[in-house]
Amino acid sequence: MKEWASLTGKEFEEIPKDVAILPVGSLERHGDHLPLGTDIFAPEWIARQVASKLHEYGVSALVMPTVPYGSSRILAKFPGTINVDDSAFREYVKSVLKEALRNGFKLILVINGHGGNASLLREAARDAAYSTGGAVLLINWWTDVAQDKRKSLFPEETLGHAGADETAVMMAITPDLVKMEHLKKNPVKYPSLRLYYRKYEEEVLFPEALSGDPSIANPEKGRELLAAVVDGITDSALKALKLIQECE
Ligand SMILES: [Zn+2]
Repeated sequence: MKEWASLTGKEFEEIPKDVAILPVGSLERHGDHLPLGTDIFAPEWIARQVASKLHEYGVSALVMPTVPYGSSRILAKFPGTINVDDSAFREYVKSVLKEALRNGFKLILVINGHGGNASLLREAARDAAYSTGGAVLLINWWTDVAQDKRKSLFPEETLGHAGADETAVMMAITPDLVKMEHLKKNPVKYPSLRLYYRKYEEEVLFPEALSGDPSIANPEKGRELLAAVVDGITDSALKALKLIQECE
């Protein structure tokens, strides 16, 4: 697995330019038991695994340095969160994507680790792709792939924050940073409504920067979910490459 930042310019010139993978995260409060960098560590780890998996299929994939700061309005009041202005985040990521495409990659795969980034990344990806003629594939790792596996492992959980799935994943990849002795629960169900209402989000969904029941998490479930996520994203990237190839 190769990383963009570790190559010399000459090495970079010589590698095949199939896929560049950009992990995007957020520095944000995750209850009292998960590290503030949870949304950075998870997509970064997944990106490296996807790169290795793509190599098994004969596809060259280069992992880019992670964008660590994201849009985190709801949790901005909690100590430890960095909330970047929406337009600054969107424009910054758009520029990074355009520059990655200018360097000649067939596909930029964005692996997002944070819900608050999702709509802004969609705009950034669309703008970068249309203005350059290049291709960007955007994946939110917790919603876009491996949903059957997620439901079978955590049947009671909806989309949480620092909940069972995210906690299990962190137990698997950074066990030393998870403090289960400080675990809290907020087993609220996300409504399936596109409702924007600050009071509800602050007081019901994230009163303690946590929603879901992390007590049912364990590292085995985390490993199982991650394996399915890595397979799902690899599969999506291969499908995207095939579509791109058909258009060439
Ligand atoms: Zn998170």
